[in-house]
Amino acid sequence: MSEPADLIIVGAGPAGMAAAVTALAGGLRVVLIDSGTAIGGQFWRHPPEHARSVIPTEDLHHGLREYHALSETLSAHSHRGQLDLRLHHHAWSAVREDDGFVVHAVDRQRAPQEIAVVLRAPRLLVATGAYDRQLPFPGWDLPGVLTIGGLQALLKSGGVAAGSRVALGGTGPFLLPVAAGLAARGVEVVTVCEAAHPRAWLRHPGPLLRSPGKWAEGAGYALALMRHRIPVRPRTAIISAEGGARVTSVQIASLTSDGSPRPGTERRIEVDAVGVGWGFAPQLDLLVTLGCALTDSVDGNAVVAVDKGQRTTIFGLYTAGETSGVGGAALAVLEGRLAAESVLADSGAAPVLDKKRLAAVRSAVAAQRAFARALALAHPIPPAWSSWLTDETVVCRCEEVSAGVIRSARAEGACDHRQVKQLTRAGMGWCQGRMCGPAVHCLAASKQVYEPAERLVATPLTLGALADLDK
Ligand SMILES: Cc1cc2nc3c(=O)[nH]c(=O)nc-3n(C[C@H](O)[C@H](O)[C@H](O)COP(=O)(O)OP(=O)(O)OC[C@H]3O[C@@H](n4cnc5c(N)ncnc54)[C@H](O)[C@@H]3O)c2cc1C
Repeated sequence: MSEPADLIIVGAGPAGMAAAVTALAGGLRVVLIDSGTAIGGQFWRHPPEHARSVIPTEDLHHGLREYHALSETLSAHSHRGQLDLRLHHHAWSAVREDDGFVVHAVDRQRAPQEIAVVLRAPRLLVATGAYDRQLPFPGWDLPGVLTIGGLQALLKSGGVAAGSRVALGGTGPFLLPVAAGLAARGVEVVTVCEAAHPRAWLRHPGPLLRSPGKWAEGAGYALALMRHRIPVRPRTAIISAEGGARVTSVQIASLTSDGSPRPGTERRIEVDAVGVGWGFAPQLDLLVTLGCALTDSVDGNAVVAVDKGQRTTIFGLYTAGETSGVGGAALAVLEGRLAAESVLADSGAAPVLDKKRLAAVRSAVAAQRAFARALALAHPIPPAWSSWLTDETVVCRCEEVSAGVIRSARAEGACDHRQVKQLTRAGMGWCQGRMCGPAVHCLAASKQVYEPAERLVATPLTLGALADLDK
């Protein structure tokens, strides 16, 4: 693209792809960057282009028709020079300037070499998605214990099954596609431990009844699990994992209504891999540092506050997808479209959607958000989850800080993850609290909404890349 960009989009998942397609249709010049090797984000994660013919993954996906339509449109715009698509580019900082935004990224195409890249545009749309939320338990740091998203990412991007006998645990419907995907690749899924009870859904029947598509998707997974004889155990959790060089077994237990293990129900199951996930945490690094206002969401996360057009509280800055509330890929696509329509309107360009279609998108967004809210309320983090931890359980893996040390910090008055960090170094390591942040916060705080700390550098980068900035 020879001309300066009108819009930078960070994140080429469902939200960023849909936003780019709408902005391009409205005549804007767009730079779309993603740290991954392919567009599609978490939901439409694919092997890199050169490996697709040898690693078939199409059967692991949903909504591929939309993915193909969006990809083909992006590819056509890229050939015409209206879209500058940069994969392997990780944005590590974004700052506001008088006439727009500067995004600093590292190009890792020739890793381990890192090349500094500086992008400028009057408007910025951040669609950086989410990552698996984790709760520690004894043995969670053993090799072979992964997040459920990690298990799925290995399958979708490389056709790799992390084990042959796998136990899954946590809460939320994401357990189901992961179990079904593993089973489809010949893995024996020995148990799926769901901490919530299906009855919890009956408390929010409205959004459920208004979302027949979600029911159909759920029923498809339920059939797949039945076909593979995968036992799903409601109100149950994986409370510890054991092993040596690698995990060899897990202990599961039924839970009481507050989430404590029910005495006498503990059971050991032999496994060679484990996947655990407690919903998602939005990836807010760039947005928090830019100073966006945050708001509470019912799933325990803080998310970016947006208006009905996905504008943040910072002029010229938009967000879409999981960053403004975890709600799934279909919602992310709709929000991406809305955000791009706002960019077009604010740039003085003609809209792509007419009034009627825009109203239809807004009403679909409202319905999907209501469903996401019901989902979050039906699959909460069990209040007493920390009763699974011994004082020796490592919570911050990077700095090796145990639950006992964090409990002592709380007893000394630390009441959120920032204060615990100052006293114990929990969250100060390589991952900067992405893995342990929500858990440390729950262990320390009485109020359970997690706001990530401000990070000036959103990904570890080499000094060489920083030095390049002066050239
Ligand atoms: C591991 C995982 C697996 C999931 N699998 C499913 C599933 O099977 N079914 C389902 O319904 N939902 C799934 N989800 C939920 C899923 O995130 C959403 O439904 C959907 O993908 C959200 O779209 P998005 O565009 O908001 O974000 P994402 O799809 O997460 O896309 C965000 C993109 O931003 C990029 N990015 C992030 N930070 C940066 C940065 N600093 N610089 C450059 N690029 C960056 C990422 O590489 C990613 O491609 C999964 C979530 C996770 C975390």
